Amino acid sequence: MTFDYDLFVIGGGSGGVRAARVASATGAKVALAEEYRMGGTCVIRGCVPKKLMVFASGYSEMFDDARAYGWDVQDGPFDWPRFSTKLNSELDRLEGIYRKLLEGSNVEIVDARAKLKDPHTVTLSTGKEVTAKHILVATGGRPVIPDMPGAELGITSNEIFQLKEMPKSILIIGGGYIASEFAGILNGLGVQVTQFYRGAQILRGFDDEARGLVAEGMRAKGVDLHLGTNIVEMREATDDDLAGATQGVPMEGGRPVAMSGAGNGKGIWVKATNGTENVYDQVMFATGRSPNTEDMGLQAAGVEVGRRGEIVVDEFSQTAVPSIYAIGDVTNRVQLTPVAIREGMAFVETVFKGNPTPVDHELIPSAVFTQPELGTVGLTEEEAREIEPVEIYCTSFKPMNHAFAGRDDRVLMKLVVSVETRKVLGCHIVADHAGEMIQLAGIAVKMGATKEDFDRTVAVHPTMAEELVTMKEPMRTA
Ligand code: NDP
Repeated sequence: MTFDYDLFVIGGGSGGVRAARVASATGAKVALAEEYRMGGTCVIRGCVPKKLMVFASGYSEMFDDARAYGWDVQDGPFDWPRFSTKLNSELDRLEGIYRKLLEGSNVEIVDARAKLKDPHTVTLSTGKEVTAKHILVATGGRPVIPDMPGAELGITSNEIFQLKEMPKSILIIGGGYIASEFAGILNGLGVQVTQFYRGAQILRGFDDEARGLVAEGMRAKGVDLHLGTNIVEMREATDDDLAGATQGVPMEGGRPVAMSGAGNGKGIWVKATNGTENVYDQVMFATGRSPNTEDMGLQAAGVEVGRRGEIVVDEFSQTAVPSIYAIGDVTNRVQLTPVAIREGMAFVETVFKGNPTPVDHELIPSAVFTQPELGTVGLTEEEAREIEPVEIYCTSFKPMNHAFAGRDDRVLMKLVVSVETRKVLGCHIVADHAGEMIQLAGIAVKMGATKEDFDRTVAVHPTMAEELVTMKEPMRTA
């Protein structure tokens, strides 16, 4: 049987684009369909604009720091429209690069929504039907909003980059990556931030001490974090709400500042599980993401979809239908861009290079761009001690740049070490540039380095990271 293409990729995010380009380089005839903008969540409404906003927000503290270091600088207001215009042109530029990369790799770009019809046929929103020997679904995910009264007034991380103006106050719901990162970003940009997390501590799944320090640091910088708290209902605020609210409403001279926010312009009234009722300019839900599998024709093609809406795949990213594969967030394995890219490369290796390559999901280093930043690889103390006896090496200190500037921010460096094998099972860092540090520590941990390997490595002085190789005595065994 002959097909129009060797590979048809659905979804122009990081994973899909990489898989398409690498497959095409093997000589395969490849097309890629994207219904929105090339680049996907990471480039258009995720990692990239988020990180640029992290940079932007960091400047508010730098004015003080600069003065402490002898510079004569003045604080000034943050100009969101100016930043946002530049941000959007940067995203346009990056989208253009993605398109050029695909074109340069001889991948045919299809600007349309694509659906599966059967194991080898894709229907396009243009009405056209095409066939392919292999189909790769890389449609990513989207934010989910809880089902509750008034939820439609809220925004998600999709909308936050496109706001016309910065809200004066915002309530962020959730305690995961996105909620905690945006709490820090918006706080740094001068927004009055309240964060509700339903659990006992934000960043569930990360090392307890690390998440504790991140939460403390966020509070110290001004985020009004409420744990064990959730939203009950929300609606457009009235004048009476504004007069009665106790927090969330920016006040000037004892009167609420006029707000530009959502709904009727008076902001959003929110009732919380802790009994408070307040008004916020905006409410942002960062309550998790769901795989984009709806109305994709998956069932019709015989592809199995799991309980969370994810495409079920094996270690080679193959679905229950042999000709259909899936990678990235749509498979709900590890929702990280570099992982989707790895999965795409492994797919090409397996299908187009005849070298079956399972995806390695072990010991993935990652960073949460909270303020303070968190970098992590391997097991948390809590996970490790359930498996085997461990030694915990841990230090917390005020780094010299902050101490000099008179800031209280503390740094945490923590190693979780196996008593039996001496291997470093986990490394957790809370510090400026923790993401940069954990990338490098991640190599050592991935290679199976022991605590003694760390000890044999000469410190780079004066740095924060030198503490990783100078912790002599375990703080405790567990
Ligand atoms: P997460 O799964 O990290 O967090 C979702 C949060 O929402 C959790 O705190 C969860 O609480 C809470 N939640 C879920 N449902 C409700 C509800 N009905 N009411 C109140 N709270 C609720 O998802 P995110 O959306 O933050 O991020 C999605 C993924 O994107 C991440 O898992 C990560 O893999 C990736 N990402 C990575 C980044 C990075 O690498 N720096 C940055 C941003 C995203 P609970 O803990 O109780 O379930």
